[in-house]
Amino acid sequence: MSGTTTRRKNRTPSPWSRLILLFLALGAVLWALSRTLTALEQPQAEATAAPTATAEATVPAAVRLTPTPPPTAEPTPAPPAVDTGSWQLRLIDYDHPLGKDFAPPELTVVADGQSMDSRVAPAISALIDDAKAAGYTVYFCSGYRDYDTQYIIYWNHIYEYTAQGMSEEEAHAKTRLAVNYPGCSEHQSGLCADILESWDQEMEPWIGGSGLMLWLEEHCAEYGFVVRYPDGKTDITGVEYEPWHLRYVGQEAAAYMMENGLCLEEFLALYQAG
Ligand SMILES: [Zn+2]
Repeated sequence: MSGTTTRRKNRTPSPWSRLILLFLALGAVLWALSRTLTALEQPQAEATAAPTATAEATVPAAVRLTPTPPPTAEPTPAPPAVDTGSWQLRLIDYDHPLGKDFAPPELTVVADGQSMDSRVAPAISALIDDAKAAGYTVYFCSGYRDYDTQYIIYWNHIYEYTAQGMSEEEAHAKTRLAVNYPGCSEHQSGLCADILESWDQEMEPWIGGSGLMLWLEEHCAEYGFVVRYPDGKTDITGVEYEPWHLRYVGQEAAAYMMENGLCLEEFLALYQAG
């Protein structure tokens, strides 16, 4: 019996042995499970990596996107360092009249009986000489005009228009587009010049853009002048396009205004904004 018992003992595991076997079995299962998971993960990792490498290798160079730089605005040169309070940049219009008693400090007769402020007389003389050298005939139509002369010109227009049947209000509105009110004209400053090809050339906007008017537009800044009432700026200047009316503002300001298509009001506003 004892032998049988011993055998039984040997054949029947003790509770401790069962526990050890259970741990061993559990360990085996966990090991097998971990092998299976590892085996499953590896192909997945390879499958994920493979398409990326393939895609990179097969994109033709021709269809690759090249970085496009963001659009940049046209470079606008900074306005020149000029003194906007200086005599040559003085704004003269209905809101900024010279007044009845203003006169330039000194006048110089330039050509065709016309005079200008002595400080700008050499510049307009050089412009006239060079325009002639370029093959144009030049007539200096009007330079400095005193208050009384402007008064007569202005009121002659009013009388003419009212005689045609316009109301006085209509006559003033039409006259102001072409002739400044006495005390508000740049001609009283001695800083501007009306330049034509002949004494009888019509002073109308349509003469602009050709002949001497085109030459003036292209070269006036070299002498310190601008076309004071440019085409398309009537809303700002209050005056119709006058390709013949040159105003002295100095070479730096003139070059900037003509290159950037600015009238004097717009140019001065750049400094007020800054
Ligand atoms: Zn004029």
